[in-house]
Amino acid sequence: MKAAGRRKRSLRVLTGLCLVTVLGALALYSSGYARALFSGIRGRLEARVPGNGPGSDLGDNPGSEPGKDPAGGLGDSPGAAGPGVQPGGDQPGDSSDRPDGEPEAPLDDAELARLRVNELGKVPIIMYHDIQDYEAEWVRSRSNFRSDLERFYNLGYSLVLLSDYLNGNMNVPAGRAPLVLTFDDGTRGQFSMIESDEGPIPDPDCAVGILLEFSRSHPDFGNAATFFVYSSPFGASQVEEKFRFLIENGMEIGNHTMTHENLAYVSPEVVAKEIGRLANEVKDKCGYDTVSLALPYGGYPKSTENLLTGTWDGREYENKGILLVGAEPAPSPFSKKFNPLAVPRIRGSQEELDKWLGEFQKYPDARFVSDGRSDTVTIREGDDGNLNPERVGERTVRTYVLPVSTGASDSKSE
Ligand SMILES: [Zn+2]
Repeated sequence: MKAAGRRKRSLRVLTGLCLVTVLGALALYSSGYARALFSGIRGRLEARVPGNGPGSDLGDNPGSEPGKDPAGGLGDSPGAAGPGVQPGGDQPGDSSDRPDGEPEAPLDDAELARLRVNELGKVPIIMYHDIQDYEAEWVRSRSNFRSDLERFYNLGYSLVLLSDYLNGNMNVPAGRAPLVLTFDDGTRGQFSMIESDEGPIPDPDCAVGILLEFSRSHPDFGNAATFFVYSSPFGASQVEEKFRFLIENGMEIGNHTMTHENLAYVSPEVVAKEIGRLANEVKDKCGYDTVSLALPYGGYPKSTENLLTGTWDGREYENKGILLVGAEPAPSPFSKKFNPLAVPRIRGSQEELDKWLGEFQKYPDARFVSDGRSDTVTIREGDDGNLNPERVGERTVRTYVLPVSTGASDSKSE
């Protein structure tokens, strides 16, 4: 009798254990399934689109930002000759066939010299606004945008995310130069969706669609881009889907304040409100933390209080970089000149692109050229005085000697 009771009890315990195991497995499966579906997106999916329409935002005023290095031009760099980076991904040492990995072995000095690696060089951060079928002051035409991508690629550039630049994770193949794409204002021309058999996909004629198409045929170029949005982005339709799409496809969302406020004329409290509201909105929609701010109209607040970090509605935000409107290439993230409070950009207009891409062609040693490893900062002998050890962090600094090249006759004043 007692033995039978024990058996019964242990049977019940066993059944209970099985049930718990099965339920646990089911829960794991469903959460894994959910994770696969939303790929880390934990935010609320309910739409909370505020009343502000996207409006037109063509008032960004270049040239009014403080903190800008007054020394124009790139001619202050030593050793201006040399082949620079070749177009295409066909060089030895190129890790384009391992887009997520590091090269197996560090490059030797001869290879570094041949590729003219320089991780203290400058990085172009391009600032686009709308992408449409015409060209205007704050609009780049689709055909010109396509040509820009081709031109960047052929000049040896590969894309890095702005957040990677700000954190010093320069993940581009060895011998290639990093370039950052940014888009202000979150317009329809930047990102709209169309229906397909597989559901909504980016319109092949919007900036996102054009960029993805180009990177499919040029995988070592990449498709990193940052979209600085304010309220009601991308035509205020499918906002959550678009946010999720960007994040899941190697792009990111930046903060352009909640109401596109000119921060030059407001108190630090309003600065916190404008940044915090937008940061919270993006977080609630897709679980993503914005880590950079582009100043509307380039308007710089009188106080830097609440720009990099602050609190709104009981929630903290952090910006790793404050982006200006204009007007020159940005310093290397490892340089003493890097200032998170004032990160300059180059306007994506024909004139400005011609000017700065031309400068880099004239002075190829002025630009950042990657060693292909994000755990190593490779610089030229004699440049270590420009290195900011705090920015280098845990990375290894490698110094090599760049042989004096024949024909390096360009003078500083040129
Ligand atoms: Zn704007």
